[in-house]
Amino acid sequence: MNRYTPRPTLTAQSHTSSQLVDQWPTAAWKQSFRRKLLAWYRQNARDLQWRRTRDPYRVWVSEIMLQQTQVATVANYFPRFIAAFPSIAALAAAPEPQVLRLWEGLGYYRRARQLHRAAAVIVREHGGRFPREAAAVRRLPGIGRYTAGAILSIAFDAREPILEANTVRLLSRLLAYRGDPRQTAGQSLLWSLAEELLPRRATGEFNQALMELGALVCKPRDANCGECPVRSLCPTHRLGWQRLVPMAKAPPRVEQVREAAVVVRRRGKVLLVERQPGERWAGLWDFPRFPFDGDDAPALIDGVAAAAGVICRPLQLLETFKHSVTRFRITLECHLADYVRLASDKRAAAPKTQWAPTDDLEAYPLSVTGRKLARLVAMR
Ligand code: SF4
Repeated sequence: MNRYTPRPTLTAQSHTSSQLVDQWPTAAWKQSFRRKLLAWYRQNARDLQWRRTRDPYRVWVSEIMLQQTQVATVANYFPRFIAAFPSIAALAAAPEPQVLRLWEGLGYYRRARQLHRAAAVIVREHGGRFPREAAAVRRLPGIGRYTAGAILSIAFDAREPILEANTVRLLSRLLAYRGDPRQTAGQSLLWSLAEELLPRRATGEFNQALMELGALVCKPRDANCGECPVRSLCPTHRLGWQRLVPMAKAPPRVEQVREAAVVVRRRGKVLLVERQPGERWAGLWDFPRFPFDGDDAPALIDGVAAAAGVICRPLQLLETFKHSVTRFRITLECHLADYVRLASDKRAAAPKTQWAPTDDLEAYPLSVTGRKLARLVAMR
């Protein structure tokens, strides 16, 4: 039985995409797909903490944490965050450094700052209750179409579609889509499929089932078609195109970078610099850190003077860390130095600095390498 028909209502924008999809699912196909998917999900869904609730605040926090972050990592952070900020009002009332401290290590700190700002907006404009209208939700800082759809469907069973990394892959394969799903035409096509697939009820469960199938079975490299509940409906499986669909992303251009971080000591305290808006790790504290191409003490002295406005005397190399931030592969040399005096010239661009007692460093939100260095200093 042919379960597909040519797609009936393509918009002008998605017309190019129509040439890259042979057929569009029929009503019978969609019905069969929903039934098989939900039956599989009820048997196979992972028991994740944020799935035990439909409280929109908890759903929201989990969705923001899960952006760009593995489920196993979020499982460690989510309960601590909720314990510290059990309500939207508690989050809104917390100082930003406390929010960032609990986010420390999750990366993409903009997410935490926007979550914090959005909590304040909800308290101010919605009486502390998470809004139920899509337009109001999408006006909140850090919430786009996907996140709004996920929260509203999971918390309120609103009929809102979702499209994120796992479902982009899954839906591309369900269409055997040969275009680039990240481009506008591909996105438009997949959003309309996500919308058409939605059942009338239990949309939250359905959206979570789509994501779960993408995460556990229809994986990026190795689609496990043998275990897939919808393989009889899947053209990519039939055509053997699992490695071709979705179209691969161009690999990012990796750049090697060398930097130095300097622990400047002064009477039991160390010098910290607050990262400013627009900088990497904005809102976090860090040791004076700068691009470092030289090999000598004068280059370190100049770097600290420019980054933090003090003159120091370098003592020794403590450690070298290698880490990645987006496409940058960073070699970070960590040095120890003693404070000498304030820099007399204007090389430093008025950074916000603080002398932090070594014993208090645990209270400051730091980058991952900043934290490693702080622990190294505390052990000395
Ligand atoms: S049959 Fe294979 S390619 Fe198709 S949805 Fe299932 S896992 Fe993905």
